[in-house]
Amino acid sequence: MHYVYDISLADIDRSKILPRLRESDTFGLLWEASQRDLIHWPGAAFNEHEELPTSYAPASDDLRGRLNSILPIFCPNLNCMQAKCPTHECLYPVYDAEKPKVTSISMLLSEGDPCGEECFRYHVDDSYADTVNWEGPDSDILAVILATTADLFPCLLAILCHKPCREVFVMRSRLFPDHRIQDVVDEPIERLRKKKFFKDAAKLGSSNVNPYVPVPPCHHKGPCDSRSCHCYENSLHCSRNCRCDLSCQRRWKGCTCHRGTKSCQKDTCKCLRSGRECD
Ligand SMILES: [Zn+2]
Ligand SMILES: [Zn+2]
Ligand SMILES: [Zn+2]
Ligand SMILES: [Zn+2]
Ligand SMILES: [Zn+2]
Ligand SMILES: [Zn+2]
Repeated sequence: MHYVYDISLADIDRSKILPRLRESDTFGLLWEASQRDLIHWPGAAFNEHEELPTSYAPASDDLRGRLNSILPIFCPNLNCMQAKCPTHECLYPVYDAEKPKVTSISMLLSEGDPCGEECFRYHVDDSYADTVNWEGPDSDILAVILATTADLFPCLLAILCHKPCREVFVMRSRLFPDHRIQDVVDEPIERLRKKKFFKDAAKLGSSNVNPYVPVPPCHHKGPCDSRSCHCYENSLHCSRNCRCDLSCQRRWKGCTCHRGTKSCQKDTCKCLRSGRECD
C-alpha cells in the first residue's frame, strides 16, 4: 500500500485494516516483520523498494528526542550513571518543562567567580546584547537545556552549548524575561507556607532511620505534600533522584562521613544504617 499506492504509514494506521505498524521500540507490525529472517530471493516482490523504517531512534541532531529516549532507562545513581543498570530496575521519569525561578538580575547580583574573560559577570550592556544573535540549532539546543534546567547558570550553560558565557546570558534573558519570572516565583512560596507540609516533614527528620524502601523516584506537580507524591503517601523520604525541588522538605539528607577522612561505617553512618547507598 505504501509503495504501490503511495499511502503514508500514518494513513495506513488510521485505516485500522492492519495491526498498528509501530507501537513501541519492540512492538508493532513493522518491527515484527523486521525480525523475520527472510531468504533474499532474486526477483522477490518489493525487492526494488527501499526497506520500511524499523528504527525509531531519534535523529542525531534531535536533542530533545534523544534525551527523552535515554532518560527513562538511564540510572542516575552516582554509583551507576549508566543506561539499563542491573541494580536499580525502574523506569525514570523524563524531565518536565521547568519554569525559571532565578531572574537575570539576581544572577548578575549573585556571588561567584567569573568563569573566564567572557563571563556574564563582567558588564553586559544593551549595545553588547544587540550584537548577540543565535539562529538555528544553537538556540534550539539552549532552549532544550533550559526547558529541563531553567536556572542553570550561564557559566555552566556555556560549557554545554560551546558558546561564550556572556552570549548565553543574553539569550537566556530573551527566552526568560525577568518580568515573567517574577510572576512564577511568588506562587510556590505561598504553598510551602502551609503548616501541614512542615509538620509532616518534621516527623521524617533526618534522625529518623526508617529502613529504606526502594521505590521509584517521585514525579508530580507541586510540592511533596499530597497523595500525588508516592513518597508522601508511603511516609518515605524523597531521594536524590526524585524530581521534586531540591529544597523539598522530605528529601533525605545524606551522611557527612566523607567530610573528614572517615569512610562510612555501619554503626555511625545513617545511610548505611537505613540500608541506603551513600551518594
Ligand atoms: Zn543503578
Ligand atoms: Zn561565566
Ligand atoms: Zn514527591
Ligand atoms: Zn520523592
Ligand atoms: Zn520531594
Ligand atoms: Zn556515610
